[in-house]
Amino acid sequence: AKAEGRNCYRMFDAAMDEAITRRRELERDLRTALANGGLELHYQPQVRAGSCELIGFEALARWRHPVRGLIPPGEFIQLAEETGLISALGEWVLRSACSEAARWTRPLKLAVNLSPREFQQSDLPERIFAILAETGLPPSRLEIEITETAIFADMSRALSILMRLKALGISIAMDDFGTGYASLATLQAFPFDKIKIDRSFVGQVETSPQAAVIVRAVLGLGRSLGIGVVAEGVETAGQVRFLVGENCEELQGYLFGKPQPIESFAEVMGGRQAC
Ligand code: C2E
Ligand code: CA
Ligand code: CA
Ligand code: CA
Repeated sequence: AKAEGRNCYRMFDAAMDEAITRRRELERDLRTALANGGLELHYQPQVRAGSCELIGFEALARWRHPVRGLIPPGEFIQLAEETGLISALGEWVLRSACSEAARWTRPLKLAVNLSPREFQQSDLPERIFAILAETGLPPSRLEIEITETAIFADMSRALSILMRLKALGISIAMDDFGTGYASLATLQAFPFDKIKIDRSFVGQVETSPQAAVIVRAVLGLGRSLGIGVVAEGVETAGQVRFLVGENCEELQGYLFGKPQPIESFAEVMGGRQAC
């Protein structure tokens, strides 16, 4: 049994070594990608509920790995945070997305995600402002999306950053609302311009009475506080009917378009409706 135990440890050790090596390789590759243009942005449409008029796009990062193909952000944002690469990555995302949006023929909105770590940089407003100045994108067209994790790490610093961003004319959305601890007090203390209802609720409005109640409550909350509400992850016509019936203003999800390279939306950008 002892020998067996030792073998087991050895196997465990080998697996650990392999995981560490893989991680080192991935970190090295991410560094290379950042330096050599291996990252891309895909864009997902956001539309007005009811009319389906295109309002803007959310930029979503993708990594085109030479061997592994297209890697979703779920697999490299955390790595970037843990290795300190996130600030270079975030800077790249902002600069690329803003310079792209500045070229659009219509003044559509651009939504960009910031990770909690990025949102803790005290000079964030200055850095964003420099990128806006450099790319020529008006601040009013930029919306920053953060999750509540970005706020709870250091509430007073987060509030200061948020107020300075707002003073510059940039709007702020609370992402994934309903999945964590963000409370009514958070919404009162932090002047968000928008709440994004997480797709785990939106996806169930037709099948789960509880999900429907939650979505209705968030919409009511937004209305009462004067905060716009976006429903994320809309995939079916039935969900649209529910959301329009509940006076939700904005929708985003595969039904209106999956995240794709901006070229795929050329027609839409020319003035055609998104659906
Ligand atoms: P998120 O900000 O909540 O983005 C929405 C995610 O839901 C995207 O996944 C999108 O592809 C997916 N989605 C949109 N509509 C639907 C739908 O109808 N059905 C389903 N099943 N999924 C839908 P993605 O692109 O894999 O991004 C995952 C997360 O990675 C994002 O979640 C965001 O938190 C993070 N992320 C993406 N890009 C960036 C970035 O540039 N910087 C940072 N810091 N984080 C990013
Ligand atoms: Ca988002
Ligand atoms: Ca989200
Ligand atoms: Ca999310």
